[in-house]
Amino acid sequence: EKKVVLITGCSSGIGLSLAVRLASDPDKTYKVYATMRNLAKKERLLGCVKDLHKDTLDILQMDVTNHQSILEARDRVVEKRVDILVCNAGVGLIGPLEAQGLDTMRQILEVNLLGTIQTIQAFLPDMKARCKGHILVTGSIGGLHGLPFNEVYCASKFAIEGACESLAIILQHFNIHMSLIECGPVNTDFLDNQEKAELGDASLGQVDASTLSLYGQYLHHCTTMFQNAAQDTEDIVKVFLGAIQASRPSFRYYTSGAMPPLVRLKTSFPEGCRFIRAISQLIFPTEATEQQP
Ligand code: NAD
Repeated sequence: EKKVVLITGCSSGIGLSLAVRLASDPDKTYKVYATMRNLAKKERLLGCVKDLHKDTLDILQMDVTNHQSILEARDRVVEKRVDILVCNAGVGLIGPLEAQGLDTMRQILEVNLLGTIQTIQAFLPDMKARCKGHILVTGSIGGLHGLPFNEVYCASKFAIEGACESLAIILQHFNIHMSLIECGPVNTDFLDNQEKAELGDASLGQVDASTLSLYGQYLHHCTTMFQNAAQDTEDIVKVFLGAIQASRPSFRYYTSGAMPPLVRLKTSFPEGCRFIRAISQLIFPTEATEQQP
């Protein structure tokens, strides 16, 4: 019997690669429901699988911010169960906090936080009834420590950590596993798809010059970091596979293999200031920071 997998956000990036990998499994272990908000974007996924996987792949419409759309996708699962749920849909938001509009901030929380929670809610009762299941969530280093100009994105990803860690405590009693796959930078459409203030945008007209200078340095840091250190989606997919195949999956997986140094620094020095100084020096190396008395 195939393992039924449902993945959100499969029109690009990590979701697409994971769907392709699982649907192409040589042993046909998985039946994959690759879901996406906009079915007009399914060609890219179809292009990756050709016609090979008719019996292992189905594409469904699902907008994680739309409750009805989640329920309709769930009802289209022919097996009437999902063994492995992957909550992956997400969007980024960068820019100075004072320039963020309320609607944009709401939208980010709507997709990243409430979208993830709503999706889990839809599949949880059935998993509980069967005392079986594995929920995987694409987490982010931005959910483990702060990043400048990412206040709202980090808030959404920190919130996911809290929601999943809380739920995992209950799920133990139902033999349901929960895993967060914590990603650093990954080569996907994420940067292009994110909500981003560009230097020169009218929305930044009221922002002070020092902040804009820091923002410019941050954008530069981001570009360099993605060029030098981003992982490919295949690397991320391997970590997902390891978690999916584990008999006793961990709660957290770091896609880089180990806890990233800045997360370790934050955990080792819980007063918090060392982390804040270290990340500031990393991203704004030439700036003098105010000395603490
Ligand atoms: P991506 O932009 O290629 O993929 C995100 C997917 O989510 C897209 O297919 C998009 O259409 C979908 N999506 C957005 N809103 C949706 C909605 N309302 N309903 C359903 N789907 C929706 O980027 P990615 O890197 O593959 O991102 C996947 C996940 O990985 C996200 O949760 C992101 O926060 C996380 N992540 C990415 C990185 C990175 O550097 N790329 C780093 C850490 C975490």
